[in-house]
Amino acid sequence: MAKKQVDIVAKEMGLDENIKKYLQRVERSLIVSIPIIMDNGDLEVFEGYRVHHSTVRGPGKGGIRYSKDVYLDEIKALAMWMTWKNSLLKLPLGGAKGGVCVDPTKLSIKELERLTRRYTAEIINMIGPDIDIPAPDINTNPQIMAWIMDVYSMQKGKSVPGVVTGKPIEIGGSVGRETATGMGLYFILEALCVKLNLDLRYLIIVIQGFGNVGGNIAQILYEKGAKIVAVSDISGGLYNEGGLDIPELIAWRDQNYFLKDFVKRDYEFVSNEEILEIGCDVLIPSAIENQITELNANNINCQIILEGANGPTTPEADEILENRGIVVVPDILANAGGVCVSYFEYIQGIHSYFWKLDRVNLELKNILLEAFEDVYTLSKEKKVTLRIAAYMIAIARLSKAIELRGIFP
Ligand code: NAD
Repeated sequence: MAKKQVDIVAKEMGLDENIKKYLQRVERSLIVSIPIIMDNGDLEVFEGYRVHHSTVRGPGKGGIRYSKDVYLDEIKALAMWMTWKNSLLKLPLGGAKGGVCVDPTKLSIKELERLTRRYTAEIINMIGPDIDIPAPDINTNPQIMAWIMDVYSMQKGKSVPGVVTGKPIEIGGSVGRETATGMGLYFILEALCVKLNLDLRYLIIVIQGFGNVGGNIAQILYEKGAKIVAVSDISGGLYNEGGLDIPELIAWRDQNYFLKDFVKRDYEFVSNEEILEIGCDVLIPSAIENQITELNANNINCQIILEGANGPTTPEADEILENRGIVVVPDILANAGGVCVSYFEYIQGIHSYFWKLDRVNLELKNILLEAFEDVYTLSKEKKVTLRIAAYMIAIARLSKAIELRGIFP
């Protein structure tokens, strides 16, 4: 899917075939075995990955996910998408990603810590402040980043906060990082509403995924007065035509309960497939890849799809949605707030000077809105979708960097 997107854009922009060949491959991928002594004394071996798609424009940057569904090709695609995202935002970073094939809900906190520490030790030569800087993704969080930083720092004999972003604030994290992806989605949606003449306060919203990304955008839009009629997690979701009480559902989630077990009069259970087809103004897929495909694209019932997750829409679905006049705001633009504030965390760490929340959000808004304007203008000029326009900008910038550096040797 990631390669196919490059094919489509390359054709549209007349990209050099050699550059295309180069961009469709990752620079390096590492597969590691992670042996862990479980609490019951048994040994389990998990498989982990770290991939650099491109470090042409700077050190690799991208999250680490823990999921039983993680596999190498998925991590390669996610690393590639990080390259485009950083290029689109003009951040001096490349694209990377990592993951461990594990169901973290089955691990105790001590097992999770041992897994994280051993995984870090196994990938240690591929990460570092000048090489590749991981961050949280699905099922990873600031505590996990703290353990990674600790292992790396112990190996180097000094504290190296710059090896990860999304750290707890007490050890060099940035204010506003946890909410950054949600905040970024909001800034982009607000800008799009101006273009489309929509009033954000009257929008009806559906959100798939209720973790860091889905939960934060739900909370922000709820506070702005928009009506969130459905949200879901891996267990399924809840729907109420009159709107959901988002703070109440976040408090429920934070006790480690699934949404399917939340009972309230007027709230109906919906599956993760059904939630995507609920009638609304804005659908925000914020869980995993491949959710909107050629199988359900004709049943999607909204004006705007704002991609909180990476890769939720397939190229086949994109074509159907375009023909149906549904505006898709692509992941590499819509959810770029996270990596943007990760970059701020990285530079705050280098300078040992930490910003206030107002500054973080202002700088975030400036960078995202500049990228949004570039993408929107190009999409109108070339009469292409926002995704194609975003890719054209990102790929052109990267191709120029490759051309300037030349191909080694
Ligand atoms: P998270 O672990 O905090 O939340 C994931 C949510 O999706 C949870 O509600 C989970 O129950 C649900 N989910 C997981 N697997 C599912 C499945 N198979 N079907 C339906 N729902 C499922 O993760 P997150 O950090 O919010 O990341 C969500 C998406 O956003 C991912 O695609 C990630 O790559 C992307 N993203 C995250 C960030 C970030 O800063 N965290 C930034 C940009 C993009």
